[in-house]
Amino acid sequence: MSRRVREKTCDRCTQISPILYRIQQDAAKTWVFVCPACWESVSQDNPFYVYGGTWKAKKP
Ligand SMILES: [Zn+2]
Repeated sequence: MSRRVREKTCDRCTQISPILYRIQQDAAKTWVFVCPACWESVSQDNPFYVYGGTWKAKKP
């Protein structure tokens, strides 16, 4: 009955990140999770960019 470690990977670079941003990045309007590094490049000059929340490994 051990709890699994909460971890998610970035949908762009596949790296595990303690913080991920839930966003839409293209016309497909699919929700993806990206790490802060990818979020910076995705969110800039992107007419399809939509922010949908932040996921954190550690609960507040
Ligand atoms: Zn990433």
